[in-house]
Amino acid sequence: MSARTLDGKALGQRVLQALAPRIARLSQQGITVKLRVLRVGDDPASKVYVGAKLRACQAIGIDGGDIELPAQITPGAIFEQISMLNRDRSVHGILVQLPLPRGFDPHLIAMQLEPTKDVDGFHAVNLGRLLQGRARFIPCTAAGVIRLLDDAGVELRGQNAVVIGRSEIAGKPVALLLTERDATVTVCHSKTRDLAAYTRNADVLVVAAGRAGLIDGSMVKPGAAVIDVGVNRTDAGALVGDVDQVSVAMRAGFLTPVPGGVGPMTVAMLMENTVRAAELQCLDENVQ
Ligand code: NAD
Repeated sequence: MSARTLDGKALGQRVLQALAPRIARLSQQGITVKLRVLRVGDDPASKVYVGAKLRACQAIGIDGGDIELPAQITPGAIFEQISMLNRDRSVHGILVQLPLPRGFDPHLIAMQLEPTKDVDGFHAVNLGRLLQGRARFIPCTAAGVIRLLDDAGVELRGQNAVVIGRSEIAGKPVALLLTERDATVTVCHSKTRDLAAYTRNADVLVVAAGRAGLIDGSMVKPGAAVIDVGVNRTDAGALVGDVDQVSVAMRAGFLTPVPGGVGPMTVAMLMENTVRAAELQCLDENVQ
């Protein structure tokens, strides 16, 4: 058996295409959807990720732009930048690219964002709404994971789901969303003993640890849906996930590739959140 590939690149394109009428509707009212990305320091990986986000903006007619701030900037000066963007009515979405340089508190920075412009969904108000099951902006990677599973028709209700990783940007929101969809969810992490005992019982396995080769075929239940969130660079410079693609593809029913799985879905979900932000701010019927 070979797993069916869950093609995040193709699904991401479909998500972007589906946004076209919503962007056109806003445009008919004289509104150009606008996203601003704050980048602190010159982390090369962040530059690549922001580049992909801005290219997606360009492809669908969102006015995307980034603001580069020096790593030596004070938190107060970042707050001031955010405050200016919060007040600017032409800006609908704001995100602060992570990771931030050492010494900056991402929670404190996320709290400066106007919650209705927080398209990454990391402000405490938006994370709180997610916990309550009435999310306004679902964190993009987690939203992308669920969309991939839904698009493939993977049943979640009553299934055993195992999430590896408990970060706020990936593992925790994925676990919340799977719980809301009636899966029975186990969260594993770096202190989990006998990881394989959990993963072998998973109908749905989401791996977001950032450890290349963490999961091999022997750890996967036959027919399981395996979502590989991890992005790791090998010594040879190749991008790989957390899952050994060859051995896992032999056992799983569904598997996301790296690259081309969760990554493009994260970008597509950001575009969806940005359009939603513009609708929330500009179209009366969506205000909540
Ligand atoms: P993180 O470092 O904040 O969290 C990693 C989590 O994995 C932690 O909760 C830790 O306890 C757990 N973990 C680490 N080693 C483990 C082990 N050996 N066994 C079990 N659990 C272990 O990382 P993050 O920000 O959540 O990102 C995780 C991975 O996902 C990274 O590779 C990152 O690059 C990738 N990522 C990809 C996307 C995307 O769009 N494709 C988005 C976000 C993160």
